[in-house]
Amino acid sequence: MNSLVATSRNFRRAAQLLGLDSKLEKSLLIPFREIKVECTIPKDDGTLVSYVGFRVQHDNARGPMKGGIRYHPEVDPDEVNALAQLMTWKTAVADIPYGGAKGGIGCSPRDLSLSELERLTRVFTQKIHDLIGIHTDVPAPDMGTNSQTMAWILDEYSKFHGHSPAIVTGKPIDLGGSLGRDAATGRGVVFAAEALLAEYGKSISELTFVIQGFGNVGSWAAQLIHERGGKVVAVSDITGAIKNPNGIDIPALSKHKTETGSLNGFHGGDAMDMNELLVHECDVLIPCALGGVLNRENAADVKAKYIIEAANHPTDPEADEILSKKGVIILPDIYANAGGVTVSYFEWVQNIQGFMWEEEKVNQELQRYMRKAFTNIKAMCKTHDCNLRMGAFTLGVNRVARATLLRGWEA
Ligand code: NAD
Repeated sequence: MNSLVATSRNFRRAAQLLGLDSKLEKSLLIPFREIKVECTIPKDDGTLVSYVGFRVQHDNARGPMKGGIRYHPEVDPDEVNALAQLMTWKTAVADIPYGGAKGGIGCSPRDLSLSELERLTRVFTQKIHDLIGIHTDVPAPDMGTNSQTMAWILDEYSKFHGHSPAIVTGKPIDLGGSLGRDAATGRGVVFAAEALLAEYGKSISELTFVIQGFGNVGSWAAQLIHERGGKVVAVSDITGAIKNPNGIDIPALSKHKTETGSLNGFHGGDAMDMNELLVHECDVLIPCALGGVLNRENAADVKAKYIIEAANHPTDPEADEILSKKGVIILPDIYANAGGVTVSYFEWVQNIQGFMWEEEKVNQELQRYMRKAFTNIKAMCKTHDCNLRMGAFTLGVNRVARATLLRGWEA
């Protein structure tokens, strides 16, 4: 099932539980605007090459639309659409005053030089600058893009609209980025895990963890779990997987990865099959890499009692059903990885105020938002007698529906 069908299915279930009017349901599902642009650039050798860029602006009832820009060969309209929709519900779950958007360019960033990436980013910005804006649509980094990409967008956008640091988040600190943004998604994942585990009278320090993906989100989540005394017993990334039943020394693994670019060859654990990682013995499984990694092929073999969805869409709907029947508790992506967009919101607020926060304040506020959202999700689970995924969806969809009705959508 593709991600758009899966997201829309969750939305429809939530709409049903909430008893939403069918006309309102339809209107909430259809994106506000879909943008598709041609981006032609000269390559370094002078030849011309063309790419297609997308931006889907899903909903703005609660505020400016917000979401990442992804550079990846498989960027397609359905995927971008699903992720834009997911952002609408995610920002509402986190209760930050934003709607949802997502964008991307179908390209392979690894095959482009830095100057080619800069030209491509500037051409894309030229094509969409009139349709994004500080109070309209605020992009951020996603797969294949980073703070440098945001710096180029800021610069190109500012040529048309004057100096506008709040046009993007995830910027370099020197251009108005927020302290704490780099760690924010991983930190939010850990705050979310703490909130969930406390419900079951447990704490991170007494449990074992398996983490798939050791990039931005996975490495920060692993580090913060390690600092809290949790035992990370297996970790993987695209280069390989390692395990250690006594707990991996995460700072040493990070150092090894920085020095060698790979998890392979790390002496503090044994190499393991990457596919075995997801079904490895542990209390908590945290997928921090790709979508769809938990599916009907492996769901029945998962040993974890809790799954924290740090990646977007790691569990496909069939796996969701299998895991639920097994009694596995799943903390859904639209809550678990909302730490990133929440600190993006803090970055935007700081840019608009022209005032920088201390990192401690960023982290404290993030914890407050994550705790509050969890309490609100639990309340929806109780009201609608549903699991955490539907609790989060009903919370998000209800907030967007209420905002839409208050603004008056029928006129
Ligand atoms: P990243 O590119 O920094 O890291 C991805 C990691 O996944 C890398 O370590 C990579 O080696 C690993 N990986 C790729 N294929 C793999 C495979 N087959 N098996 C095991 N590992 C594999 O990306 P990120 O920013 O850490 O994002 C990870 C996930 O979290 C994505 O799904 C992303 O959409 C989601 N997410 C990220 C943020 C954020 O702020 N970075 C926010 C919300 C959601």
